Amino acid sequence: MYNKGSDNQKANPITVQDIWKAHQSIRPVVKKTPLIYSKSLSTQYGANIYLKYEHLHESGAFKMRGAVNAINQLSEKEKQKGVTTFSTGNHGLAVALAAKKLGIPSCICVSKNVPNAKLARIKELGATLEVYGEGQDDAEKRCYALQKEQGFTVIPPFDDPNIIAGQGTIALEILEELPTVDCVIAGLSGGGLLSGIGLVMKHTNPDICIYGISIEKGAAMHESLKAKKPITVSESPTLADSLLGGIGANNTYTFPMVKRYADKSFLIPETSIAKGMAYLYQEHGIIVEGAAAIGVGALLDKHLPLNEQSNVVLIVSGCNVDLEDHSQAIMNYI
Ligand SMILES: *Cc1c(COP(=O)(O)O)cnc(C)c1O
Repeated sequence: MYNKGSDNQKANPITVQDIWKAHQSIRPVVKKTPLIYSKSLSTQYGANIYLKYEHLHESGAFKMRGAVNAINQLSEKEKQKGVTTFSTGNHGLAVALAAKKLGIPSCICVSKNVPNAKLARIKELGATLEVYGEGQDDAEKRCYALQKEQGFTVIPPFDDPNIIAGQGTIALEILEELPTVDCVIAGLSGGGLLSGIGLVMKHTNPDICIYGISIEKGAAMHESLKAKKPITVSESPTLADSLLGGIGANNTYTFPMVKRYADKSFLIPETSIAKGMAYLYQEHGIIVEGAAAIGVGALLDKHLPLNEQSNVVLIVSGCNVDLEDHSQAIMNYI
């Protein structure tokens, strides 16, 4: 919980200044995204509800912000050697595309179980693939081995100051367009997104409310907050696959930052995620992935208390979903 008035800068390695620097640094490569007023949601809830269209990034998700910022901080020598990561999801795509745009080599470590369609997408972006082992843990090990053997720099998915600062640039764009914002709602997984946004918003005005939305099927951060330490949870398939994954036993940044800046975290069932996807398709004409629709679904199913808030922003975080999976998910709700 954010402690009003007692803001100890020392406890926080990342400052709002870092986020302004990231804002300048990423701008040539990462374009500003639109903030859309949702007339239908606003009428329904008696508040002004806006959608931040983060699915419009070229990589299909906000993760471009963090990836470009992290790569921009490398020395020339490090850039020449290249970057690596082990995510096959939106972070992996972002690292591959960011590296391509910045003209540096990238290598994405994947396990043998990653589907071909995903591999093709990563290759298309110009990254080399390192296929190793049976699961995500093996791919991660390989990634750190590559760092040692070949001098690649690992770009971590969330628990890293430059990644957090990159994701925080979303908040600067929101404040520029909607200075009266009083609530931001975002999907919560590793917590890079919420850490960056929370830092900016709470330093601007501690009364701005920050809600994190987690999936019932693997809410590592939500459960860690409850346990007051990073813990692992069991996971099962979900429509919001981008929200799967642990927070790391040695989590350094995002666990304390989410703990400090998020007012509350909510657990949302699969049916609400599907409803959110269907609603965004019908009312706003956009096809987005489950993780991006979870906030809207939470609102529709009245999981969120919006009593005092009057200018609410929902982060529509990404659109990397197979069309077939999308139509399957929304079928019962349109
Ligand atoms: C990564 C991701 C999130 C969650 O961000 P974290 O920083 O891991 O909490 C939400 N939505 C989408 C589409 C993502 O790719």
